[in-house]
Amino acid sequence: MHCPNCGAEREHPVCEVCGLHPEAAEVAFRRRLIYQTAIFLVGTLAFLSAGQLFPPLELDLMLVFLGALFFLTLALGVWLDARARRRRELELLRRLFRTLVPVPWLLAGLIFLNGQLDAQPPVHRVTRVAGKFTMPGTLRSSRLLVVSWREGREFERVPVSRDDFLRFHRGDPVEIRMRGGFLGIPWVYDVYQKEDAVER
Ligand SMILES: [Zn+2]
Repeated sequence: MHCPNCGAEREHPVCEVCGLHPEAAEVAFRRRLIYQTAIFLVGTLAFLSAGQLFPPLELDLMLVFLGALFFLTLALGVWLDARARRRRELELLRRLFRTLVPVPWLLAGLIFLNGQLDAQPPVHRVTRVAGKFTMPGTLRSSRLLVVSWREGREFERVPVSRDDFLRFHRGDPVEIRMRGGFLGIPWVYDVYQKEDAVER
């Protein structure tokens, strides 16, 4: 078995590397688990904030990924906690958990740098509002469903502010203002009402 505290292989109840008894090692492990879970949760908030600041065109796809990651990591944390209480082997699951903890921070950093360092010229696309929807929550959760300008796609789900969400109606011509992104992830910085826009 591995020591829950330091991860060293141990042959005796008392770990030869960190010197902790099983009880103390378990307490140390569970304390660290809470700490790492907190880092993960704050990372999730950081990702959502970055998505507010520089909303990628594919924000919803990223949110689906983040949601799956969120539940997987929390479930793993709960499982690890239960196994630690029963003094089961933790090492493999612990490593997996530790790998997942920084992922939202990494994604948040990518989204932030993608927008912050963006020197690409703006791209404007004129299209038409095909619908709109909003999801419960206080974050930027309003979307305009617009006719896609991309090959093989029917619609784009453009993240917009609450004001823009209320301003637009189905059938309205709209100009989507985007940038290509420092890392090549297109993001939306504005939507503009086009009174006499020529539709694509
Ligand atoms: Zn140890």
